[in-house]
Order: sequence, then C-alpha cells, then structure tokens
Amino acid sequence: MRKIVIALDGYSGTGKSSTAKEVAKALGYIYIDSGAMYRATTYYFLENQVDLADAKSVENALSNISISFSGNQVILNGDDISNDVRTMRINENVSAVSAIKEVRVAMVAQQQQIGQERGIVMDGRDIGTVVFPDAELKVFMTANPDVRAERRQKELAEKGIHEELNTIKVNLLDRDKIDSSRAESPLKKAEDAVEVDTSYLTFNEQVDKIVELAKGIIHAG
Ligand code: C5P
Repeated sequence: MRKIVIALDGYSGTGKSSTAKEVAKALGYIYIDSGAMYRATTYYFLENQVDLADAKSVENALSNISISFSGNQVILNGDDISNDVRTMRINENVSAVSAIKEVRVAMVAQQQQIGQERGIVMDGRDIGTVVFPDAELKVFMTANPDVRAERRQKELAEKGIHEELNTIKVNLLDRDKIDSSRAESPLKKAEDAVEVDTSYLTFNEQVDKIVELAKGIIHAG
C-alpha cells in the first residue's frame, strides 16, 4: 500500500505529539517528535553552557550532538534524556535555541533524512512548510490557550511535576510568540494544511479525524 508523509504542525500544547503518536500507531507508521530534537539540543546547550550568541560555539556543540529515538525514548549521545527534556527549564529555553539558524539547519537535515523512508508522522512547527513541503497530508492544530494550559498541567502532573496553571499558560504563549515571529522558518499554517481546532474535541476524536484524512489520501493514491 502507498506510504505517505504526514506533517502535524501547530501551537505549543495543542496535543500534537500525543495525537501524532496515536495516528502513527493506527497506520503502522513511524512517529518522529521533532520538538524532542530541539529539546535535546537545548538540554545539551544548557548542560555545556554553550553561548547562544556565539555562532562558533553553537556549531561546535552541534557537531558533538547525536540524537536518536528508541521507542518513546529520546537518546542524546547514548543517554536516555526523555524525562530531562520535559522540564520547565527546557520549556523556558527551547524557543530561543530553536530560533538559531545553525540549529535549524542541522535539525531539518536530520529530519529529512528520517523522512526518506516515508510512512512517517512527524510533528513540530515547520514540518509542512520547510521539512516536508511535499507531505501528502498536512495538519495544523490549534486550541484555545486555557484548554492547552490545562492539558499541559495534567500531562506534567502525570509525571509527578506540579506547576501553576498560569506559569504554564504564560510559557505556552511566550513560546507561540517566539516560534511565530522568528526569522528562520517561523510557525505558520502551510497553505495546503487542514486546520483542526482541538479545543472541543476529545483526544480520540482528534486522532480519528486525522486517521480518516490519511486513509482517504492513501486509498485515493
Ligand atoms: O513540540 P514541542 O513543544 O516539544 O517543541 C518544543 C519547542 O521546539 C517549540 O516551542 C519550538 O520552539 C521548537 N520546535 C521548532 N520546530 C519544530 C519543533 C519544535 O522550532 N519543528
């Protein structure tokens, strides 16, 4: 059967990652969390006190970074850092790191390499616009900020992390602002993307909707 590329972009906290994971499962596709790659890079930069303003240091650090996935684990230079990349410390720094041109060039090249296989679902901010502009299915996810903050709070609580709702909301809106206004591949809806507002959809409804869209394309091809 024909294998397609599904690009899932949208604002922070709209449920892209969990949705993309389920969509991939339903279709028997590989799921790639591109945000985790930016988070892993941010983790490395913070741990190694890389000066973000110094292009040489950034490039040098990038050449020392190897990111891979093993099931749901994010592996940085051989270490499982899955939990370390979901902290507020990373949330607060990741958009600044992601705005650096050299970082984007390195991440996009790796993502395109992974996508050569097809049969993948990748979620992020620039997947439909920059990484896979030819993706057969592009989805742009939105949801109102209060709903997003509540969902993120619940997600963190499940990991034993308790965070104020307002702190989370402010961080989500801050990241939206930096992600949408940066010079390098800003977050924006691709012209041919289908917009899905998840504010009033249950998780299963949003997964089903995207799986149906994908099946329509797979069977039409
Ligand atoms: O998707 P997630 O919230 O984990 O992404 C974390 C951050 O990584 C985003 O706020 C954004 O700054 C950056 N990102 C990006 N491009 C992507 C995926 C994530 O700039 N394709």
